[in-house]
Amino acid sequence: MNVFLNGSIMPHHEALIPVTDRGFLFADGVYEVVRIYGGRTAFFAEHMARLRRGLAELRIDPSAADGVEAIAGALIADNGLADQDGIVYAQVTRGAPPNRSHAFPPDTPPTVYTVAQPHPRPSNERFDAGVAATLVQDTRWKRRDIKSIALLPNVLANQEAHDRGAFEALFVEDGHVLEGSRSNLFAVHGGALLTHPLTSEILPGITRAAVVRVARESGMEVREAPIPLELLDAVSELFLTGTTTEVMPVVRVDGRAVGGGVPGPVAGALQEAYLRYALNPGHETDR
Ligand code: PMP
Repeated sequence: MNVFLNGSIMPHHEALIPVTDRGFLFADGVYEVVRIYGGRTAFFAEHMARLRRGLAELRIDPSAADGVEAIAGALIADNGLADQDGIVYAQVTRGAPPNRSHAFPPDTPPTVYTVAQPHPRPSNERFDAGVAATLVQDTRWKRRDIKSIALLPNVLANQEAHDRGAFEALFVEDGHVLEGSRSNLFAVHGGALLTHPLTSEILPGITRAAVVRVARESGMEVREAPIPLELLDAVSELFLTGTTTEVMPVVRVDGRAVGGGVPGPVAGALQEAYLRYALNPGHETDR
């Protein structure tokens, strides 16, 4: 498998990072995961816009993201993904200065890493059965709108979900359910869609934005407002959205059935509409 590191494409075993890299020492960087459907990427421009915004927020030169899309195209071809499902992973850190010190290092170019690798879509059985989720206290920092590589709270929450036999952990804070450890969260309540607004409490998911768009286009009401914990007992459907998760129905939360305890029609319809939108080659010019 070939990867891109700091200006060159090379075999992955040759891609080495100095131990002083700020990503290694401080988790000082941001990343993106872009879907590849049958060799074609989905929503690349949106992912790059979020990457550049994250870099700007961290005061890393956003031009570090320049060329990542072309590099991804080359890696898709190199790695035999021309007609495969996969992901592009791109990461930028504040670079590798000679010494470790908290303050930004002078004259240090960012480290830019990109890989394209196979990654199957969730199975039809998974969409048909829906998934279980578990509630965990949100222990993350207060800038969850930045797609930081500092993912320890997400890792621990997701492991807790696995330990409890659940697919996803849902972060709870101040009596509200915000999002998953690696996905955004939607509820269907009173016929309308409900999802947390775009604040610094959640990641502005690319899939979330696409689902909000296709839902509104289909005439659904979408309310961007916090989801109270106690509402979970009253919603008719709950679903996750994410680049690799797509639109995934949640049928149980901590063992309690959501709605009828089976995937609902809204999640099913939105999954179809989302995939159509993601696969539509003309979608970039539609907007
Ligand atoms: N929230 C969190 C915390 C995530 O890690 C992810 C996945 N990157 C998402 C939401 C979904 O974002 P996207 O739709 O852009 O994959």
